[in-house]
Amino acid sequence: MLRIFLKKGRDAPVRRGHPWIFSGALEEIEGDSAVAEVADVFDWESQWIARGLFSPNSQIRIRVLTWRREEIDGDFFFRRLAGALAIRDRMLSGTTDAYRLVNGEGDFLPGLIVDRYADFLVCQFFTAGMDRLKPLIVDSLSKVLSVKGIFERSEGRARSEEGIQPSIGVLEGELPPELIPILENGFKFLVDVRRGQKTGFFLDQRDNRAFLSTVARGKQILNCFSYSGAFSVYGLAGGAIEVISLDSSRSALELAEHNLALNGFETARSELIKGDAFAYLKECDRSFDVIVLDPPSLAHKRGDVEAATGGYKFLNLHALRHLTPGGLLLTFSCSQHLSTDLFQKVVFGAAVDAGRKVSILRRLGQPLDHPVSLHHPEGEYLKGLVLRVLD
Ligand code: SAH
Repeated sequence: MLRIFLKKGRDAPVRRGHPWIFSGALEEIEGDSAVAEVADVFDWESQWIARGLFSPNSQIRIRVLTWRREEIDGDFFFRRLAGALAIRDRMLSGTTDAYRLVNGEGDFLPGLIVDRYADFLVCQFFTAGMDRLKPLIVDSLSKVLSVKGIFERSEGRARSEEGIQPSIGVLEGELPPELIPILENGFKFLVDVRRGQKTGFFLDQRDNRAFLSTVARGKQILNCFSYSGAFSVYGLAGGAIEVISLDSSRSALELAEHNLALNGFETARSELIKGDAFAYLKECDRSFDVIVLDPPSLAHKRGDVEAATGGYKFLNLHALRHLTPGGLLLTFSCSQHLSTDLFQKVVFGAAVDAGRKVSILRRLGQPLDHPVSLHHPEGEYLKGLVLRVLD
């Protein structure tokens, strides 16, 4: 096992429970510093602090797994996974069979995401250390939960920053079908876990979609960035008289069409539009009672935040302009780098420029299967506001 000694004064955040140790905090490494493996972390006086996974190529050099002297073995992962499952089992209802089983740092398993879609699990290993422990984790997963198959969708920016290649395919059991049927709050959706965005479905918006259905009755709704149409299904189920689903991706809209039909909403009340939401909102010459704005993350890194605020402001400004008096805007940002405060300021700027007076009816966020470690506030990425325009 690697032994890593921190510089003087750099131990406090780790002791307080932050799971990330940056390269600049390291004084000395005993062992092979080119291999991603389990490491013991000591302070500058050689006092043991924590045990975690070392990433030789990442700026975040260590992710802490435990502050106890426990073995990082199959039993360790079994305990963490069983704990994660217990929360979901207790709190999710029998009408939902798709949820995030493991939410990285929020479940004290940094670098690991596991989503459950009915009888299949989809995993993402985002760090070099977690990637190396894949066999152990897959084995523990199949012990806590009996499923037909475990599939991997490890790809994207986080992996390249760790110096590891994308990895996609079956880890255990059956290959999932092209589209997996799932239930969310009793609604049916088809999920493309092999090629869809993220692991196939935006599980993090479950509660916020349920909120939409409570305000939809008799309303004309515009669902911008609709992906596979989930907000649209809830809107129609809530009694909307019209729902427009807008997305730039043809495959997303095809799936949205399937999902609407599956729930009995192949109706004149529903329209699908392929287009750019920025252009549509600017040019559109009609108004809506409710608009949902759920753009992809516009800030992927800290340095993008300033440019991203311009994008968020543009979207919110033009959405607010298109609301009927008393109309509602459900506006979201899923960028970890844009704080809740800054998001609210951006939306305030948009309201001022749109010339509308606006109140916040409710703040929205992540559901219980996307927990945030109190010691790692960076894990809070999804923020939303329900806004009402005065007149
Ligand atoms: N609200 C969705 C998730 C949205 S994800 C849900 O609940 O499932 C973001 C979506 O925005 C993706 O489907 C992507 O195809 C779409 N998108 C990205 N850029 C876009 C643009 N400029 N205009 C319209 N849609 C866009």
